Amino acid sequence: MSKQLILALSKGRILDETLPLLADAGVEPSEDLGKSRKLLFDTNLEGIKLVVIRATDVPTYVQMGAADLGVAGKDVLLEHGAEGLYEPLDLEIARCRLMTAGVTGMQARHARRRVATKFVNIARRYYAEQGIQAEVIKLYGAMELAPLMNLADEIVDIVDTGNTLRANGMEPRELIADISTRLVVNKAAMTMQHERLKPLIERLRQAVEARHAKAPVS
Ligand code: AMP
Repeated sequence: MSKQLILALSKGRILDETLPLLADAGVEPSEDLGKSRKLLFDTNLEGIKLVVIRATDVPTYVQMGAADLGVAGKDVLLEHGAEGLYEPLDLEIARCRLMTAGVTGMQARHARRRVATKFVNIARRYYAEQGIQAEVIKLYGAMELAPLMNLADEIVDIVDTGNTLRANGMEPRELIADISTRLVVNKAAMTMQHERLKPLIERLRQAVEARHAKAPVS
């Protein structure tokens, strides 16, 4: 069998942290991903190609088998759902928190709490688990604006330093989930391509562990 493995990478912030980890695992793109408009790349390894796509599309590519494996944030995976995917490895990069947040010092004004987010599935699940009635409003960006414009009482968003919230007069409230970047593998490929996937997953695992050895978590 001469099939190549396709590894789907999330564009943007995660990509910047994924490439050094891939390099540690012995996988390097044949050209500079940042300088190219291409989406499909060869690597130094004949058996592995990379696609660079929107983070939210990675689970879909892997679930449908268009890519054999992928790198995606846990936020994106929680929102998408785990069907058809294995998650064999926490890459421990791009750490952040998924939180609720609101205008500093301000209580929810609506009896049925209005929540603006791009993570509608996560938000619906979270508020239902808390027994809070919520109307979840889908937005595609600039969530911080919604409470200021009275579109929502709260948002559900990614928080790293909290600077974005503070700059907009908002405060983080409840933690929904700690987030980091995960390796996901198509379930069918895990069986059919096991001999090819196993060494790659192992090298990535070793690269993650080697980082621990250098900078032990205190
Ligand atoms: P901060 O101001 O440091 O709290 O960063 C918050 C913003 O940066 C959020 O609105 C996110 O869009 C983005 N962000 C921070 N960390 C991540 C991450 N690990 N993955 C995706 N987006 C992130």
